[in-house]
Amino acid sequence: MYDYLIVGAGLFGSIFAHQAKKRGKSVLVVDKRQHVGGNLYCQDEEGINIHKYGPHVFHTANIEVWDYINDFVSFNNFQYSPMALYQGWMYNLPCNMNTLNKLWSVVNPEEARARLESQRVHYEKPLNLEEQALSIYGKDIYEKLVKDFAEKLTGTPCEKLPPIAALGALLPLRYTYDNRYHTDTWQGIPVGGYNPLFDNLLSGIALKLDTDFFENRDQLTSMAHRVVYTGNIDQYFDYRFGSLDYYGLYYEHELVNTRNHQGTAVIFYTGKEVPYTRIIEHKHFERGRQPITIVTHEYPASTKKGGEPCYPVKDSENHNRYIKYRELADAEAGVIFGGRLSDYTLYSMEQTFINALALVKNELAG
Ligand SMILES: Cc1cc2nc3c(=O)[nH]c(=O)nc-3n(C[C@H](O)[C@H](O)[C@H](O)COP(=O)(O)OP(=O)(O)OC[C@H]3O[C@@H](n4cnc5c(N)ncnc54)[C@H](O)[C@@H]3O)c2cc1C
Repeated sequence: MYDYLIVGAGLFGSIFAHQAKKRGKSVLVVDKRQHVGGNLYCQDEEGINIHKYGPHVFHTANIEVWDYINDFVSFNNFQYSPMALYQGWMYNLPCNMNTLNKLWSVVNPEEARARLESQRVHYEKPLNLEEQALSIYGKDIYEKLVKDFAEKLTGTPCEKLPPIAALGALLPLRYTYDNRYHTDTWQGIPVGGYNPLFDNLLSGIALKLDTDFFENRDQLTSMAHRVVYTGNIDQYFDYRFGSLDYYGLYYEHELVNTRNHQGTAVIFYTGKEVPYTRIIEHKHFERGRQPITIVTHEYPASTKKGGEPCYPVKDSENHNRYIKYRELADAEAGVIFGGRLSDYTLYSMEQTFINALALVKNELAG
């Protein structure tokens, strides 16, 4: 009999497992995948760490989170500065003075603000993503960097998509020549990729991979006093209110016989002329010097089968459905629900650390 069964060896489950073991609790971790690390898992190909479930860059301004993660790994100070390609033109993302200079030949922030202001459309209360984006970014940025990309990702016209709660944080607009996506004090990729983080978090902990909780539910549940569940909340309750929708992604990895394919880690393809949303060249995350390279095309899941659930569809229908599942979860004795799939929320890694450590404090105090 274990103290805790932890369903999911992703970031949330692994932090909880480590902390529980540290406090003398016995823990069994199971994951349906053949590896630990959840969506942070890196696959080594030709000495290059492939971010198998999409590019992941750690960033935080929280000293406690930074100190905590540095007990397990050190970082390479990689600064994420992606580009966007639209009709043959490369633009810096997020939108900054370099982007605005390329769009409008403006040179200083004052000119840029004036030009943007002349393009903005003012809505009292934007009713959809198109109105929201036009009111924040104006016509040019909306058409070149937002519209086609959002429609490709979601399969829905922007005028039918709801406004996004944190659009300004997802696609910041900055009047500086700073090309970094994240402005947090600390950022980077763990030296050697993300796998060493999980090897260290889960060191000495009982682990069963290739084990789907739902295929052995009764048996696994009977093996522990309490369960920490980090899988999909709708699946736990047999989809009784219907399934929670996600925009999914699908990745195709390819070895290319050249040293440097695109000159940067991530390029967003914001036009509809290609079906993929991004190309990722993994070696740039770790400044790799291999003679070959590995690139990944990221597709919206609807274009391929077997996409991973990535971005929750936060429309009112899904939100209301989630609230009903949450009520069931809160009433479920002996089970703690946590992580991005249980909370139906896209958390950053930093937020996942904060949430998991808060749960530890609550659950394992003393
Ligand atoms: C495309 C994308 C890019 C991102 N990029 C960044 C970034 O650059 N920086 C950043 O800070 N954050 C990023 N994130 C967020 C980051 O991925 C999450 O914060 C983190 O993965 C959350 O960890 P988790 O443990 O909650 O979930 P997950 O990593 O999804 O782990 C859940 C685990 O549970 C397992 N599981 C599920 N169901 C079962 C079952 N029935 N039985 C057994 N096991 C099960 C899964 O196999 C998985 O291993 C990104 C997210 C996405 C989708």
